[in-house]
Amino acid sequence: MLTTINEVKRKFDVEEIRNDFPILKRLVNGKPLVYLDNAATSQKPQAVIDALTQYYTFDNANIHRGLYFLSELATEQYETARLKVKELINALSASEIIFVRGTTEAINLVASSLCRAKHFKDGDEVIISNMEHHANIVPWQLMSDRKQIKMKVIPISDSGELDLEAYEKMITEKTKLVSVVHISNSLGTINPVKKIIEIAHSHDVPVLLDGAQAVPHFKVDVQDLNADFYAFSGHKVFGPTGIGVLYGKTEWLEIMPPYQGGGDMIRTVTFEKTTFDDLPRKFEAGTPNIAGGIGLGAAIDYINQFDRNELVAHENKLLDYATEKLSHVEGLRIIGTAKEKASVVSFVIEGIHPYDIGTIIDTDGIAIRTGHHCTQPLMARFNVPATARASFVFYNTKEEIDKLILGIQKVKKMFI
Ligand code: PLP
Repeated sequence: MLTTINEVKRKFDVEEIRNDFPILKRLVNGKPLVYLDNAATSQKPQAVIDALTQYYTFDNANIHRGLYFLSELATEQYETARLKVKELINALSASEIIFVRGTTEAINLVASSLCRAKHFKDGDEVIISNMEHHANIVPWQLMSDRKQIKMKVIPISDSGELDLEAYEKMITEKTKLVSVVHISNSLGTINPVKKIIEIAHSHDVPVLLDGAQAVPHFKVDVQDLNADFYAFSGHKVFGPTGIGVLYGKTEWLEIMPPYQGGGDMIRTVTFEKTTFDDLPRKFEAGTPNIAGGIGLGAAIDYINQFDRNELVAHENKLLDYATEKLSHVEGLRIIGTAKEKASVVSFVIEGIHPYDIGTIIDTDGIAIRTGHHCTQPLMARFNVPATARASFVFYNTKEEIDKLILGIQKVKKMFI
């Protein structure tokens, strides 16, 4: 069932919320799990796990094709999930919601299809930024066997903010797309994407936003942003892996050819010619991740129980608390200190490799990410091979951050 804005919202209570996530009760290395790697993937509430179990236990059938009860039931649930996504990001129509495997596939779809639509000519440009995930770098390079697309990179400041003046100057008549991250997974920077879109549109250039970190963090409104494309992953927004979303404005999706061919995306097929189905089916070849879609729908219902501003406020408090505590650790440097930040803190400690930090605190059940976070060019910009990264969501607590700090002190004692 779709939730409406008039519904009474569930009161935010972090301890109660933690009870909704069974994994948070488990022990790791004999200690209660402290899960601070939410930017990589978030944990799943029981409601999402139940939705998957219900589907596979009682409702499993292939969708769109069967004229029998179970197939119609599965189809209805999958299409209802699409409607929930439409409402989540305020798309104009459910046909603008393409189910894909995740953010990575969404960006690959746009790159591949725009190239085949002859949107790009050899020598045309796509503007990205220095803080992109590899998912928004490599797909453009892969297109080189079809089109020589030049990537132009918006530089960033030492605090991890985009240089908008440089960006504006980069746009030329060869610029055919701006493709940037909404929230950086490595720095936490919340980019001024509305402004970026306004600038691009004033030059008639469309914009794709990588929203992998944004949709889990706050309410995204694609119409208000006026984004042409928006990509995100289900597994980071408390849903299952293997399901994600590409939003595209109808005017773009209509002129783009299919990404893959096969069943479910056609209207007629002969050996000579195929005609394609309407949106969104044109882009959804083959049996999709039905359970994943339904699970994502359950995750959206879960989030919709709350006033999202309360979730954001809690995450912001955690960010402030962690930033303050970490900044008192001698020799620790936070990478990414933008004014507008989401709850991601990347850091390095002089003389200690991030891998050592991650491995040692894991013995106390604390899970943080260490490495380049699929942003190697960003690591090069800050002249570090890797960082340690703690990322928080609404089920995290200050006590968990205290445990992280204790863990870091323990690491330091071992090395100094
Ligand atoms: N973009 C950003 C900003 C991300 O953080 C991630 C995942 O970490 C991705 C893209 C890729 O997402 P996925 O692996 O779910 O396709």
